[in-house]
Amino acid sequence: MMIPEAIKGFLLLLLIFVPLERLFSHQRQSLWRQGWETDLIYFFTGNLIGKTSGLVIFLLVNILFVKGIVPKEITGFVNQQSLALQLISGLLIGEIGYYTAHRMLHQIPWLWRFHAIHHGAKELDWLVTVRVHPFDQIFTKIFQISPLYLLGYSERFFAIYALFSATMAFFIHSNLGLKFRFLNYILVTPELHRWHHSQNPETYHTNFAAQLACVDWLLGTWYLSKRRSPDGYGVNESVPVSYLKQLIYPWQNHQTLSQRRENL
Ligand SMILES: [Zn+2]
Ligand SMILES: [Zn+2]
Repeated sequence: MMIPEAIKGFLLLLLIFVPLERLFSHQRQSLWRQGWETDLIYFFTGNLIGKTSGLVIFLLVNILFVKGIVPKEITGFVNQQSLALQLISGLLIGEIGYYTAHRMLHQIPWLWRFHAIHHGAKELDWLVTVRVHPFDQIFTKIFQISPLYLLGYSERFFAIYALFSATMAFFIHSNLGLKFRFLNYILVTPELHRWHHSQNPETYHTNFAAQLACVDWLLGTWYLSKRRSPDGYGVNESVPVSYLKQLIYPWQNHQTLSQRRENL
């Protein structure tokens, strides 16, 4: 029997992260924490949305290519670089795109409504990674991968980049209590991303990067406390728990919602 790739991927992640989170947990929490069923739906729907939107962005960029947006000399130059050089430069370009989108999602109120879904999680573990509203997912992807498609990065680069990006995303959300010391200045770690999910707005507007912590460090948004851990995770608004309610949450009239809550 053929097992779909998404199910294989899920089982592999389950086998890696569940024992690791048990052995080195940052905080004790149940495997069946609040919202795990919702995140399970996000895992499979997000996988489909990610693949489809990636293909659409690739096709759109290629149509623009025909119109000669980026000169062939540049795309040819990038494409012929060694894989190591493509990885170093591509990681940085992709991260700058991701950082820009992520910071906009935090600072522009109507965009925050979509991103609040991801920050609504009250407990963090590897599966929280996928709790991303489809609009948030596509918006971020456009900023992250369009420049790389436009610049002509090779297929081999994209194969490694996709694997590295996914691994890092699950790693930084995991409930691992390990100390990463100097690595926190170079790569994003669970220690850093935990502060990004802190319920305190002062720190959830820090650590925007997903892979390269040095980008936050250079742009003045890097934060880590060696003395304490976040008091809790989540946001100062009632993000619903069910998948369908989360999908429509950004489109609802929030003023009316908060007034209704006050009247209860
Ligand atoms: Zn965020
Ligand atoms: Zn996150």
